[in-house]
Amino acid sequence: MKPVDSGPGFTGSPLDRADHLRHDTDAIAAAMGDWRARLLKLDGFDPVPTDNGRLEWTSLADAPDDAELVFLGLIDTKPHFTAYIPGMRTGAGRPPQMFALLDRLEAGEAGTYAAARSVLDWHSRHQFCANCGAATAMFRAGWGRQCSGCGTEHFPRTDPVVIMIAEHDGRALVGRGPNWPPGRYSELAGFMEPGESIEEAVAREIFEEAGVRVTNVRYVASQPWPFPSQLMMACVAQAEDDAITIDPKELQDAIWVSRADVKRALAGDPDAPMIAPPHFAIAHTLLTAWAAEE
Ligand SMILES: [Zn+2]
Repeated sequence: MKPVDSGPGFTGSPLDRADHLRHDTDAIAAAMGDWRARLLKLDGFDPVPTDNGRLEWTSLADAPDDAELVFLGLIDTKPHFTAYIPGMRTGAGRPPQMFALLDRLEAGEAGTYAAARSVLDWHSRHQFCANCGAATAMFRAGWGRQCSGCGTEHFPRTDPVVIMIAEHDGRALVGRGPNWPPGRYSELAGFMEPGESIEEAVAREIFEEAGVRVTNVRYVASQPWPFPSQLMMACVAQAEDDAITIDPKELQDAIWVSRADVKRALAGDPDAPMIAPPHFAIAHTLLTAWAAEE
C-alpha cells in the first residue's frame, strides 16, 4: 500500500506554531496586546463549531480573569490563543454529542482544535512535578511547565498508539470492543510500550487481541488523536493464517472482511457486515486506503 500523504482527521491545521516566539516573552506580550489576537471559544474542552464548520474565535478580553493563555500560533499572521482555566478537567468519557460536534468541523479546523484540546488537557493533569511533587507553572507561552521546587522542565506529551489491518487472502481483520455501538467494527489498536518498535507493537497487539501472527508490517499514515493526546500510527501487516482466537477482555468479536465489504460499509450500506468508524478517525482513513488497493 502507498503511504497516505494527507487527509486523516485532525491534520491540515493552518496554524503556524511559531516556536521561535514561544521563547520570546516580549514577543508573546506584544501578541497578547495585538488588537487582532484571537481566543479559541470552547465549551469546557469541547469545540463550538459555527454553521459553516469553522471554529469560533473571540477577543482575548473574553478570557476569564484567572485564565492562563496558551499561544497556539499564527493564522494569517494573526496571533491565536487558547485559555487554560484553573480547575478545568476533562470528563472520563467521550460523549456522542462531542463526536457530533467533530462531524460538523472542517478538516483543518479539527486539527487546530486537536492542538488546543491536547495542550489544555495536559496542563490540567500536570499541575505538580512528577519528579518532586511541588507545584509547576506554565512557561514557553504554554508549551511547557516548570517545577517551582526542583526546576525540572516538563513538556506536553504525546503517547504513540498503533492501529492496524492484518491482511489475509484479500481480507482485512477488524474487531469490536465490548460496549461498542451495535454493528461497529474497526481495526485493532493498542498503545506502544517502552522499548518497542512500531513493527513489534503491531505484531504484539494483533497476536494479543486476536491470536493472529503477522509479518511484513508497513506504515501507512498517522494522525493526532486529542482524547487526550495520542499519536495514532496506521499500518498494514500480512497474517500467517486466518484462525482467530480473541482475548475477551479486549474484544467482543473479530471478523475478516473483503474489500467489497469495506467499500459497502464506508458507503453507509446498512446491509454491510460492519458499520465503519467515523470519518475523522484514522481507522476510516486506513480502511479507505486499503479498500482502494487491488
Ligand atoms: Zn520538581
